[in-house]
Amino acid sequence: MTNTSTNTDAAPILADHLALDLLNTEARKDGATVDYWHDGADVLRWLAQHGVTLAPGVPAPAPAQLLAQATALRTLAQRLVTARRNGDALDTDDTNALNGYLHAWLSAPSLERNADGAPVLARVTRAEPLAALLGPVAQALAQLLAEGDFGLVKQCEHPDCILWFYDRTKAHRRRWCSMSTCGNRHKAAQFRLKAGAAKS
Ligand SMILES: [Zn+2]
Repeated sequence: MTNTSTNTDAAPILADHLALDLLNTEARKDGATVDYWHDGADVLRWLAQHGVTLAPGVPAPAPAQLLAQATALRTLAQRLVTARRNGDALDTDDTNALNGYLHAWLSAPSLERNADGAPVLARVTRAEPLAALLGPVAQALAQLLAEGDFGLVKQCEHPDCILWFYDRTKAHRRRWCSMSTCGNRHKAAQFRLKAGAAKS
């Protein structure tokens, strides 16, 4: 038995970082874990929302395999980001596993033309469809681990929320996944506290 509730909503996009939005495909609602990925189609949709798609004509990977691999990458991201956030050394098995995704994402430099006909240096993928889809996500994760400022990698402060974000605000005082949900929940609770104190 799990307490994972079924949910047909799309995962929130609010982290300001692809690797943290990956973590946010699992959330908590009313004390229960919500997994926004139920099948390969959910993963494909999520990837497309983040601009990750296959070239036209390339067949999508088997849905079950995509879901399994994407979920494994998410579990890996949870462990690596948490370790890095706690200032712990990264586990070698975990970094090896992440490198598996990175190394499978074969690509080559390619001189292309943009819409105006100007030459641009792009990369074209030479990878299998599955590796081509998860490679950009793995790269975002590796980049975060190597170059991210973990003072700005935060989890929403609401006790019933586990969403992550990269605090890109100028003053670095972002506290909530979203002002309209957790920020307001907090404000309302503060207001009730104050109102209660005023009455007594
Ligand atoms: Zn929140």
